[in-house]
Amino acid sequence: NTDTPTQETTDGFHLLINALKLNGLDTLFALPGIPITDFLRMAQAEGLRVISFRHEQNAGNAAAAAGFLTQKPGVCFTVSAPGFLNGLTALANATTNCFPMILVSGSSEREIVDLQQGDYEEMDQLAIAKPLCKAAFRVLHAEDIGVGIARAIRAAVSGRPGGVYLDLPAKVFAQSVPAELGKRSLIKVVDPAPRQLPAPEAVRRAVDALRVARKPLVILGKGAAYAQADAEIRRFVETTGIPYLPMSMAKGLLPDNHPQSASAARSYVLAEADVVMLVGARLNWLLSHGKGKTWGAAGPKEHADRQFIQVDISPTEADSNVAIDAPVVGDIGSCIAAMNAAIGAGWKKPPAEWTGAIAERKDKNLSKMAETLAKDPSPMNFQSALSVIRDQIKAHPDAILVNEGANALDFTRSIVDMYEPRKRLDVGTWGIMGIGMGFAVAAAVTTGKPVIAVEGDSAFGFSGMEVETICRYNLPVCVVVMNNNGVYGGTDQNPRGGDAAPTVFVKDARYEMLMQAFGGVGVRAATKAELARALDEAVAFGKPTLINAIIDETAGTESGRITSLNPSAARKK
Ligand code: ADP
Ligand code: MG
Repeated sequence: NTDTPTQETTDGFHLLINALKLNGLDTLFALPGIPITDFLRMAQAEGLRVISFRHEQNAGNAAAAAGFLTQKPGVCFTVSAPGFLNGLTALANATTNCFPMILVSGSSEREIVDLQQGDYEEMDQLAIAKPLCKAAFRVLHAEDIGVGIARAIRAAVSGRPGGVYLDLPAKVFAQSVPAELGKRSLIKVVDPAPRQLPAPEAVRRAVDALRVARKPLVILGKGAAYAQADAEIRRFVETTGIPYLPMSMAKGLLPDNHPQSASAARSYVLAEADVVMLVGARLNWLLSHGKGKTWGAAGPKEHADRQFIQVDISPTEADSNVAIDAPVVGDIGSCIAAMNAAIGAGWKKPPAEWTGAIAERKDKNLSKMAETLAKDPSPMNFQSALSVIRDQIKAHPDAILVNEGANALDFTRSIVDMYEPRKRLDVGTWGIMGIGMGFAVAAAVTTGKPVIAVEGDSAFGFSGMEVETICRYNLPVCVVVMNNNGVYGGTDQNPRGGDAAPTVFVKDARYEMLMQAFGGVGVRAATKAELARALDEAVAFGKPTLINAIIDETAGTESGRITSLNPSAARKK
């Protein structure tokens, strides 16, 4: 009789802490408030690392980035209703990016919510979260916390990773359970992301397609970076000799200066390749949906004659935009290992005609870029400022680069080379603004490496208050604000006078003082030399730093490289 009232008891708070610990989820990204304040205090007292933020969206983004970097679901805790909704953007974004994360929100009492009797922060959170994430669960009894956490972990990391919502009504925390029963209710998840082996005939079909290709191309996406199959992927690329293109977050999976990288000849290879193998990359808008001019078709929507191989863990990803001739379904590590085994000895590298034509274009574009980067204009433009960041990452390839903005994103992606896997965190599939400080905090907390966040001045505004968080935890984060006085640039005028134009900010804003306000280092840098000095010090000493990099306000273009996505007015003046 284990349920006698005299026996020792535990409660929801402690069962939750123990369930997280048992599964190695040792860091919580959070924002305290009713009903999770005490929980966070107790979690810290029990040895979990609690990183608390100033806005839930940033805590959620931190959890998502931690998930991408570690293959363990990043965990975010929020309060009910508004806190939950603020965290939900990050959860939806994580799901879109295929990053594993768990959003845990406290919620109001079911009895009151379901009768809509008007509780404090009343909201049917589970119903709202459901369509925006991979899975959503609610726990109503403390003895089910173990199952709830186990299900959340499996849902987040197995198959295609994604975001999971876990709803915990306030009273579950305080429910008491006999200690022995509580202990037995916890689950240590065995093999949360089981390997998924590809079918041998699928592997053969793919290898056969590559074998006869005259202009083969491999495209590596952030799924390939996430998979941590770095050695297998490198072996595959180098053994086959096939040129490759990294998507932005796959930069560094192989070093960007690798001789087979076709990045500097991107438009040429996309238009010309005859067999394209996608590895953890989707044929979405970022790849022009696999058709049209980008892919060498004569008409804008036409699908040029080309074969696609797609290596992906999701069996329903193939054919989402164009026909996939050879889908290889499984986890990337297993798939590429199987392909490596299948190519065997005597593989013929791609024709020199193809690799030579790529090399020629690369050389031309790279020397053009070198010329641009050598310039030292005053004020700085994006290229000159980024040449400094480029040198810094080259000197510190283990540093993590966080990147968001429009022009600040596009220029950084093409100018700043990466040398190691999973060192670049950016706006991802949605091209979302606001990930900056959350991702930077997560990168610093989970890796301990220096972090450089290259931020458009507009992008920075979405999460800028977290500079306090960076200072509070004394994280080795250097934020570089590319300050060109506005969204895209700072030159728009209101034709009627009066209010500022919608895209323009306060001119010559002193962003560096935000960091100084919380005890960090703030530097205004108007030249390459000033920027280089400040960045060297930030990376060498690891102190929270914000560099206000003054960029020519005429230097940006509307929407950066995605200008064409702006609807244009049918009515012309
Ligand atoms: P990118 O934006 O870099 O092109 P995407 O996010 O579009 O990358 O694509 C990532 C793809 O990787 C998704 O289709 C996802 O299903 C897949 N993926 C994620 N993790 C794995 C894994 N471990 N093994 C195989 N595929 C994976
Ligand atoms: Mg700007």
